[in-house]
Amino acid sequence: MLKKLLLSFVLIIGALLSIALVRTLMHSAPEPTVNVGVTADIDGEAATNNLAASIRFKTISHQDKEKFSPQEFEGFIKWAADTYPEFHSAMQLEMLEYTLLFKWEGSDNSLAPILLTAHYDVVPVIPGTESIWEEEPFAGVISNNRIWGRGALDDKSGVVGMMEAATYLIKNNFQPTRTVYFSFGHDEEIGGGGAAQVTEKLKQEGVQLQWSLDEGSFVSRGFFPGVDKLVAAINVAEKGIMNLLIVAKAKGGHSSTPPEENSREHSCGCSHQARK
Ligand SMILES: [Zn+2]
Repeated sequence: MLKKLLLSFVLIIGALLSIALVRTLMHSAPEPTVNVGVTADIDGEAATNNLAASIRFKTISHQDKEKFSPQEFEGFIKWAADTYPEFHSAMQLEMLEYTLLFKWEGSDNSLAPILLTAHYDVVPVIPGTESIWEEEPFAGVISNNRIWGRGALDDKSGVVGMMEAATYLIKNNFQPTRTVYFSFGHDEEIGGGGAAQVTEKLKQEGVQLQWSLDEGSFVSRGFFPGVDKLVAAINVAEKGIMNLLIVAKAKGGHSSTPPEENSREHSCGCSHQARK
């Protein structure tokens, strides 16, 4: 009886395994469907010149807030209004310090809005590295088929790119169905207080977003080992920071003859001396 049971058990397992094997061999990956995008007829040269012009404003975020230069930020904001008048007249603008929150009203208020985010502040040039720059960091030079300078990638390309794209849509009589917010931060590189104010403001107004999209990574080549094609990486998270003070206490003694267990050795493998 037991033997029979065991035999049928083995047979069932065997049958299941064969089915799994056959199905695995029969399986082929589904053909990827590629959506053919719409070709936008954007004036590339004008857009390029606009990005270069935006770089010329030294909208630098300094750790030392005393060094903040309001003229540069005001200059950038005025330049944006002059360069993208259609964008500015189609939207309601709310200033949160120097962070700009634009609202592009959708035709259907029952739909949750979306938020597109970028920032126009940049990090300072590290003192002593000026000579390494092939072009002046704030000259906004276009040469060798490149736009040079602070913010060319991070992240004036985002701000200018969005204003270009929306301007193109506005000129082509597009009106969004869903309300679209654009948030252009002024202090992303030093913690993003402007973004926090945007969050607070939307919260106060009871806005629940459908989704939001912030700056991501860049389209790069040669960045990922073993991949020589262009790669557009999608960033889904961001590192935070944390400061820790670690104190290790132990019996005193001279560091030339440390006991096996002592306060100076710790597991991170670095050479810090633990505090006594
Ligand atoms: Zn950035």
